[in-house]
Amino acid sequence: MHKILIVGGGAAGLELATRLGDRFGKRGTAQVELLDCSRTHLWKPQLHEIASGSMDSGTHQLDYAAQARRHHFRFRLGEMIGLDRHKRELSVGPILDEEGKALTPPRTLGYDTLVIAVGSSTNDFGTPGVRQYAIALENPVEAARFQRRLVNALVRAQTQVEPLRPEQLHIAIVGAGATGVELADRDVKIELLEGTDRILPPLPPRVSEMALERLHRLDVEVRTSAHVAEILPNGVKLADGTVFPAELVVWAAGVKAPAVLKSLDGLETNRINQLVVLQTLQTTLDENIFALGDCAACPWPPGKGTVPPRAQAAHQQASHMVGQIMRRLRSKPLKPFRYRDFGSLVSLGRHQSVGNLAGLVTARSVFVEGFFARMMYLSIRKMHQIALHGYLRAMLGTLTEMLTGRTAPRVKLH
Ligand SMILES: Cc1cc2nc3c(=O)[nH]c(=O)nc-3n(C[C@H](O)[C@H](O)[C@H](O)COP(=O)(O)OP(=O)(O)OC[C@H]3O[C@@H](n4cnc5c(N)ncnc54)[C@H](O)[C@@H]3O)c2cc1C
Repeated sequence: MHKILIVGGGAAGLELATRLGDRFGKRGTAQVELLDCSRTHLWKPQLHEIASGSMDSGTHQLDYAAQARRHHFRFRLGEMIGLDRHKRELSVGPILDEEGKALTPPRTLGYDTLVIAVGSSTNDFGTPGVRQYAIALENPVEAARFQRRLVNALVRAQTQVEPLRPEQLHIAIVGAGATGVELADRDVKIELLEGTDRILPPLPPRVSEMALERLHRLDVEVRTSAHVAEILPNGVKLADGTVFPAELVVWAAGVKAPAVLKSLDGLETNRINQLVVLQTLQTTLDENIFALGDCAACPWPPGKGTVPPRAQAAHQQASHMVGQIMRRLRSKPLKPFRYRDFGSLVSLGRHQSVGNLAGLVTARSVFVEGFFARMMYLSIRKMHQIALHGYLRAMLGTLTEMLTGRTAPRVKLH
């Protein structure tokens, strides 16, 4: 039986494993296996909600083993650490428990088709102090750590007898891309530092202006053209010597793919470690290995740039990959992936979003804000839930959230 091994169960990989499991695993026409170094999945765009305390990660995390059983694929816990393309074998490192004991041993996994979807992590660009003192919102553990530190800081400030220190209760977020801007929720008093001359640099200037106006209303200080030189134990130092005192620093200033991709038996990578792929999503040097999501550098528009690292791109590539696998199993020629940019939406608190929509009604970009934008923003997450659970269960989940939202506290304080 043809064996499809998917590495990384994120926005792209888990949707793919679920759909392939339903299509091939159920009928026994192909074997579908998913490897991830974590036991649970959380859709990454929700991380800022965990960090600000407006969402409890426990209730939104999906157990890979349960999803695998329900959708007829196998889940393997482990970390990809190497590859032998000649033998078609992936090397998997051990996973250790909290006490450092091996939970899963080192091993190898074979494949006929390998799909790599290991996402991305924050890029510190070699800035001193980032690893030691800043928090990066790249997984639920880090987001929950930020939330705990924030609540502790508030409790400490409320009960201490001495006056507040200069950095106390100051929060600096470095990088005003979507992650940084979305964390600027009204429950958090922050300073947003951006190296370029406007916030949300990849989005149209009008969206930057709309978001800036909202941030001002939320009392968020925004500083553009602020080039960060170093993160200090109690603040952020700019290249011009200015120091912003801050008790908590979040680093959200760029992404890069995991370093392990640089050592996958010579597969071609770019300067931010992404696997270079053809329009078919096949890696340039091995037709049996595909890459999708944030870890793939896929040409778009062809010959000019690459597909941006976004959830909607991961979702579209996962859908395209289902078709590619079907064509591969039937020995038919593969089709090129074409990214459709439907615009970008940025969430600003519980009821507000701003952004631009493109290609839905007309080819032109339409700017949206307020309740409608919020609904469109939530619909991206809904599409992910539908891909994982089907329409009925996704709608039941929405209903449950609406009901529990009426009794649950609005902000998590423990
Ligand atoms: C805070 C935040 C907010 C965001 N907001 C938005 C938004 O509003 N809109 C939007 O479009 N995009 C947003 N994004 C980007 C979006 O989340 C990503 O583009 C998307 O998750 C990429 O999907 P992926 O499947 O490529 O990777 P991921 O979803 O990151 O999944 C990668 C998976 O691979 C696993 N993995 C990693 N390394 C290994 C390994 N060596 N071995 C085994 N498994 C491994 C990880 O555990 C993870 O499960 C946001 C990202 C962040 C961090």
